[in-house]
Amino acid sequence: MSDNSSKPETLAIHGGQAVEPITGAVMVPVFQTSTYAQPAVGQPKNGYEYSRSQNPTREALEAAISSLEGRDIEGGAHTACFGSGSAATAAVMHLLSAGDKVVSGDDVYGGTYRQFTKVFARQGIAFSFVDFTSVSPEQAIPEGTALVWLESPTNPLLKVADISALAARAAEVGALVVVDNTFATPIFQQPLTLGADFVVHSTTKYINGHSDVVGGCVVTADPDLMTRIRFIQNSTGAVPGIWDCWLTLRGIKTLAIRMERHQSNALALVAWLKDHPKVGKVWYPMDASHPQFEVASRQMSGFGGMISFELNADLAAAERFCAACKVFTLAESLGGVESLIELPAAMTHASIPADVRKEIGITDGLVRASVGIEHIDDLIADVTQAMAAAGI
Ligand SMILES: *Cc1c(COP(=O)(O)O)cnc(C)c1O
Repeated sequence: MSDNSSKPETLAIHGGQAVEPITGAVMVPVFQTSTYAQPAVGQPKNGYEYSRSQNPTREALEAAISSLEGRDIEGGAHTACFGSGSAATAAVMHLLSAGDKVVSGDDVYGGTYRQFTKVFARQGIAFSFVDFTSVSPEQAIPEGTALVWLESPTNPLLKVADISALAARAAEVGALVVVDNTFATPIFQQPLTLGADFVVHSTTKYINGHSDVVGGCVVTADPDLMTRIRFIQNSTGAVPGIWDCWLTLRGIKTLAIRMERHQSNALALVAWLKDHPKVGKVWYPMDASHPQFEVASRQMSGFGGMISFELNADLAAAERFCAACKVFTLAESLGGVESLIELPAAMTHASIPADVRKEIGITDGLVRASVGIEHIDDLIADVTQAMAAAGI
């Protein structure tokens, strides 16, 4: 992008989204085609052969994400889009070979953990899981590590890993570093500028932002790494549908302004919850009481809309509370314009044994909220009435 359009608010709307040259259409058209006519044998027009390999709508979305993640990188970034965040994760893992060793955060997204332990472990890749916030980078990443998988902030306790320190250690041992940047988005955190080799997103969440598409992407500043990811994208074929790319392009236009509101609502709700006599701990990285507040302040310019808080209540009362919410929808997932609420112990993290859950801090009264962009007064009124209805 040109020098005068390097701000994220502008890039979200214009990055990679040129006016269509034939008609002047302002919005990138839906190129809903599987194949392209070739003027002569072996001479595809402008390189377009087949939509698994090349599609202009998908390319516009890829360029838009690149413009945001790579806005402060000389030479920019490169993005490959996939049919889901999980498919994006798998594409990165396909770079590895049997015998390679991976170090992953111990509280990564459950689907990521499942893919590592139930799919790629069977293919001979070795995984170890560590709490990057409680050991040194040297202890966390031993010699011989091929890849480091970080998620920051994590879910549901919003732990923050020191990306620069871990990337520096990974560089010493020659390991690739991947950061799942789904929660922070490039609006608030740009891991490639902190030394990460790859960023992965579930674009299902904030990037699309409207809870109507499942998608994912892999981003890197290294053209050679992108060539390898593109080869995997084309040869394993987990590409997104074209309408989904178009919807995500529509969604990304408001990413910056949405993140601003998600954050201001989250901050106001955190302040209200902290004052509430029936609420115990509240987790939000922008709060000075957060254990990694200092690292978070250094590597993030904002903290988004994810919060967790502990109700002074047993599981049954916490379940009644979640069910009684009316503006907050009781649902898994996150990152949409609408506020969602869930109970990790009974929902997203129910597969973790109860004693392990307690040990890592996921108590029965722990509530996770994806704070949407509704009016804050309505959100606080909703939580208030739901507590009363649940007898908390
Ligand atoms: C949802 C999510 C994923 C998986 O993405 P899907 O699009 O659901 O496949 C990965 N990482 C994080 C942090 C997520 O929230």
